[in-house]
Amino acid sequence: MLDYFVVGLGLAGMSFVEELEKNGKSFVVYENYSQKSSRVAGGLYNPVILKRFTAAWKALEQVENAFSFYKNIEKKLNISILIEVPVLRRFNAVEEQNTWFEAADKPILTDLLSTELIPNKNQALDIPYQYGKVKNTGRIDTEKLLTSYINYLKDKDSILNESFNYDSLVIQKDYVEYKGQRARNIIFTEGYGVVNNTFFNYLPIHGNKGEYIIIKCDKLKLSEAVKSSVFIIPLGNDYYKVGATYNNKDKTSAITDEAKKELQEKLERFLRAEYTVEDQVAGIRPTTKDRKPMVGSHPEHQNIHILNGLGSRGILIGPYVAKKLYDYIEYQKPLDGEINISRFKNLR
Ligand SMILES: Cc1cc2nc3c(=O)[nH]c(=O)nc-3n(C[C@H](O)[C@H](O)[C@H](O)COP(=O)(O)OP(=O)(O)OC[C@H]3O[C@@H](n4cnc5c(N)ncnc54)[C@H](O)[C@@H]3O)c2cc1C
Repeated sequence: MLDYFVVGLGLAGMSFVEELEKNGKSFVVYENYSQKSSRVAGGLYNPVILKRFTAAWKALEQVENAFSFYKNIEKKLNISILIEVPVLRRFNAVEEQNTWFEAADKPILTDLLSTELIPNKNQALDIPYQYGKVKNTGRIDTEKLLTSYINYLKDKDSILNESFNYDSLVIQKDYVEYKGQRARNIIFTEGYGVVNNTFFNYLPIHGNKGEYIIIKCDKLKLSEAVKSSVFIIPLGNDYYKVGATYNNKDKTSAITDEAKKELQEKLERFLRAEYTVEDQVAGIRPTTKDRKPMVGSHPEHQNIHILNGLGSRGILIGPYVAKKLYDYIEYQKPLDGEINISRFKNLR
C-alpha cells in the first residue's frame, strides 16, 4: 500500500511531491506530457499585478515561502534554477508614475514596490517616462526544473510515463486501487488536462492559452525583466522570452502565427534594435472563474483530491497551496473557503 498516487507533474504535482518527500510518504506519479503550461512558463515570480499596481493574492506569504522552497530543490537535485531578476515596469505617462507612488504608500505594497524612479540607460529601449521597480522578484527555469525533477523521480522508480485512465480507478473506503496497486490517497494535478477527468471536470477551470516568442537580440544587453505592452525576460547569451499572449478560445497547445504577429507588434513599440525570432512556445494556463486555486477533496470520495487552478502564477501559488492540501489531508487542518472546491458543490 502506497500513501499517494499523483497524476501530473507540472508545478502543482511537483509542489505536492515535495511535501510528500519532506514528510517521508511513499508515492508514484503518472505523467503523460499532454500539457505544457509549466514548462513554457516565463518562470517569473513577481508578487505584484503590474496592470493595476496591486498585490497578487497572498503575495507576501507566498514569496517568503517560495524562495526557500526552490532553494531546497536546487540543493536536493544539485541544479541551478533560481535567478534573482529585477522586474521593471515601464511607465507610459507621468500619471502612471503618480499612481505607482500612491500604490507604494499602501501598507501591503510598501515591501513590494520601490519608490525610486529608475532611469533608462539602454539605447535599445524607448522608455520616455522611466521605470518603477518591483521588489522580491526573480525567475525559475521551469523547463530545467521539471526535466531534472522527472529524472530524479525516474532514478527512484517513482514516476510512470503513462496517461492515467480514470475508468480504471477502483475506489474503496480507505484506499484506491489502480492497475493492481493500492494507495491511501490520489491527488489530481493535471492542469488544464482536468477537462478529461471524470471526477473533477464539473469544476470551472476554463483555461487560457499563452504563447511566447524567443528572440535573439545582440544589441539589447538587458539583465532585468522589463514589462511594457509585453514582458521581455532575459534568458542569457542574448536570448529573450517575449510575451505572453492571453487567449481563452483556442484550447490547443499549438503555436500560432497570430500570436507571433501580436507579440512582435507589441515588442516593436518600444524595442529599438534588430532581432530575430528563434523559437515560439505555447501552453494553457489552468485559470478559474474566480481567479482562486482549486484545492480539496471530491464531494463523495474522501480519498480523491485535487490541486489545480494555479492560473498565471503557478511559481508562487503552487508550493503555497500544496502545503495547504497536505495539511488538510494529513492533519485535517481546514482549507480556506476561497480555495476549497466545496465552493462549487452546487455545480455537481
Ligand atoms: C505562456 C505562459 C506563461 C506563463 N508564465 C508564468 C510566469 O512567468 N510565472 C508564473 O508563476 N506562472 C506562469 N504561467 C502559469 C503557470 O505556468 C501555471 O500556473 C502552471 O503551469 C500550472 O501548473 P499545473 O501543474 O497546474 O499544470 P500543468 O503545467 O499543465 O501540469 C499538468 C501536468 O499533468 C499532466 N497530465 C494531465 N493529464 C494527465 C493524465 N491523464 N495522465 C498523466 N498526466 C497528465 C500534464 O502532461 C502536465 O505535465 C504561465 C503559463 C503560460 C501558459
